[in-house]
Amino acid sequence: MLNALIIGCGRVGSSIALELQAEGWGVTVVDENEDALTRLGESWPGSFIVGHGMDADLLRDRLIKEAVHEVGHTLDLTHCDDYACAMAASHAVEWIDLKEASLCPNCQGRVLEAAR
Ligand SMILES: [Zn+2]
Ligand SMILES: [Zn+2]
Repeated sequence: MLNALIIGCGRVGSSIALELQAEGWGVTVVDENEDALTRLGESWPGSFIVGHGMDADLLRDRLIKEAVHEVGHTLDLTHCDDYACAMAASHAVEWIDLKEASLCPNCQGRVLEAAR
């Protein structure tokens, strides 16, 4: 599934969110105002996060973790059950905050094994 992160749930953000959702995307919307959720309708099935989408430190932190994660996939690593491992799946953006930007010992071992 393709995933989209939409910063700001105003007129434009909410209409893009609804359109992508209708096309089958997994959509996470971030807005500082909780009431903006009403723009997405009563049965919004995606994620909604109350917060400032431009928190640069948080975005950088998540970006690094997801970069490590995707590089892990290029090394044939699959998703890891250790929620703190960079290879843990993140089905909602908050899940990224639970993990570290590094691999658990098990995934590290798999990378070293593959490098032989
Ligand atoms: Zn993955
Ligand atoms: Zn792992």
